[in-house]
Amino acid sequence: MINMDASFGYIDENLRIIRENIADAAEKYRSPGDRIRIMAVTKTVPPEAVNHAVSLGVDLLGENRVQEYQSKADAYDKSAEVQFIGHLQTNKVKYIISSVSMIQSVDSIRLAQEIDRLAVKNGLVMDVLCEVNIGGEESKSGIAPAELEGLLKEVSSLEGLRLRGLMTIPPPSDSDVFLGRMQELYNRFAPEYSFDTLSMGMTHDYAQAVKYGSTLVRIGTGLFGARNYNK
Ligand SMILES: *Cc1c(COP(=O)(O)O)cnc(C)c1O
Repeated sequence: MINMDASFGYIDENLRIIRENIADAAEKYRSPGDRIRIMAVTKTVPPEAVNHAVSLGVDLLGENRVQEYQSKADAYDKSAEVQFIGHLQTNKVKYIISSVSMIQSVDSIRLAQEIDRLAVKNGLVMDVLCEVNIGGEESKSGIAPAELEGLLKEVSSLEGLRLRGLMTIPPPSDSDVFLGRMQELYNRFAPEYSFDTLSMGMTHDYAQAVKYGSTLVRIGTGLFGARNYNK
């Protein structure tokens, strides 16, 4: 019989290192008691490995793709919270509306309105973050910083949505510049909208993101190893 626990030992070690790095950065740059959540990003990762991370205390999973999530959801340990972090087409909101606790990738009024419509229909209020394309990259989704204010105003007016903060995937280089700009945007709107969540930081920049005020880091490869898209 295969000992599943032993085969996922690398996840134990990876998580230990991530927690240590976050604690180090938090001690240096943050106030005592600041909470920084670790999200395990599960794309391409088999449910058994995801569940192993949950058994180690990871209580938040991040899903990118609607179809992949649907195919894996039944196998997940239900004790972890699941949030959606990928680009979301309006016609797919219906598949996730009642199974995720937050949608982090709201980047248009159209998408916000569709989430609102289905939330109201299902008798729930969906927590959301607005995704900002802080680097202005063509290839990335997210709203342009200049258009953020209008989106926030619209999102906060919808009764089926509860606006919690901002999310970003900054460009891979010049991290300090872009993480700093996100922190400024967050701080500018936080008082007006009672933000409590700044979702930023991935495998290559999570310690830096903690320096710039992140409250939630999203980690895939740093926890589970390189992604294998052929599996
Ligand atoms: C894949 C992904 C991550 C995690 O990226 P890693 O570099 O593997 O840590 C975080 N956020 C989003 C939105 C992603 O798509």
